[in-house]
Amino acid sequence: MVDRVLVTLDGTVRDPDEPLLCADDIGALRGDGIFETVLVRDGKPCAIELHLARLRRSAEALDLPEPDLGQWRTAVETAAKEWGTEREGQLRMILTRGRDSIASTAPAASRKPSGQAASPTAYILVVPVPERVDKARAEGISVITLSRGISVDLAPNAPWLLMGAKTLSYATNMAALRFAARMDADDVIYTSTEHRVLEGPRSTVVIQRDKQLITPPARNGVLPGITQRALYAEAEKAGWDCRYESFFTADLITADSIWLLGSVTLAARVATLDGLRMSPPDCAPEIAEMVDRGVSRAWNIADWT
Ligand SMILES: *Cc1c(COP(=O)(O)O)cnc(C)c1O
Repeated sequence: MVDRVLVTLDGTVRDPDEPLLCADDIGALRGDGIFETVLVRDGKPCAIELHLARLRRSAEALDLPEPDLGQWRTAVETAAKEWGTEREGQLRMILTRGRDSIASTAPAASRKPSGQAASPTAYILVVPVPERVDKARAEGISVITLSRGISVDLAPNAPWLLMGAKTLSYATNMAALRFAARMDADDVIYTSTEHRVLEGPRSTVVIQRDKQLITPPARNGVLPGITQRALYAEAEKAGWDCRYESFFTADLITADSIWLLGSVTLAARVATLDGLRMSPPDCAPEIAEMVDRGVSRAWNIADWT
């Protein structure tokens, strides 16, 4: 059974133990690049069209050359097939600005305003899903709220913060998760300076009240979530009232349930929030099933707007 698969964007299956990056890759030097994390289930990449669409959007935000989505799709399918159907995999699509020395020595005419030569680094890596995932899906997670130290007004006025792009600069997100671990928590919900709920370091926050679902809008500086979108598509069909609205930390406590949604874990119910236990509502299995169905259905690239 393979436990890692590495495919470069040209479709070549590589030995994952052989070096791939050059020492001057800007992705490594500065975290300057973008990624997508995709669940591989039954040998297929879930909701791949939505991931491709968001990859394109993120590339645009970072002034990277427009990704060849057809080439990405083929390479992702190759990687998923190599991974096989035996178990779930966590597939990462990685796109960095490429090599620094090549960017700085390329003739000025071939450079973009951002100073790069047109040769990004692009590859796909599949590994087993993390161990925490099974437990998070089955039993839920403990979560603490942490301030992100920014206002929801910032995102629309500060495009250089790349709030709506999935960038490789995740050091602070990982630090937040380590901080949570020291507090015996599994995950984090970020809040804004005005105590509005934002997102998790790697997930979208959705709260449920009766037959209503609410998630913060992208304009508040959160990444538009693919798993959340998949849930909304199924929930709307099933007669739920699905909304994009700002809400506050206090609204978390009065919700019937809180969910962290992400492409690999899918749906994790918040079982403990800042030490307060939250018991599962009757609809908890229904929500998890809608997420499952939503990510498994066929999507069109134009569904991502
Ligand atoms: C990836 C990510 C999400 C959303 O996850 P999906 O995989 O799109 O469901 C939300 N917030 C952050 C910070 C993320 O990195």
